[in-house]
Amino acid sequence: MDCKEIQKWYIPFIDDELSPKELAAFLEHLDTCQDCREEYDIYYMMFTGIRHLEQDPVKGSVWIDSGQKLGYAAEYLKRCRRRHWIKLMALGALCVGILFLL
Ligand SMILES: [Zn+2]
Repeated sequence: MDCKEIQKWYIPFIDDELSPKELAAFLEHLDTCQDCREEYDIYYMMFTGIRHLEQDPVKGSVWIDSGQKLGYAAEYLKRCRRRHWIKLMALGALCVGILFLL
């Protein structure tokens, strides 16, 4: 995964539109590439800053910074992976159960 591809994902990442696979690649790259991490921070600040200003102040929204956003994404990814394993184990248990019935 090179920097140019990662840069295309800044906005989809901020909008929570990346698939778990893309998200994993994105987070891994930002962990190891200081340039992209800094650029992401700038994008995040500009993009969410503008949105925050445009939003109805009565509704209100919780402002999280770019680092927190990455943290939440990593947690989300962990949950996805756990869910994936639970599904696999449930499927395995089901297969074993069916085998016993036969
Ligand atoms: Zn990079």
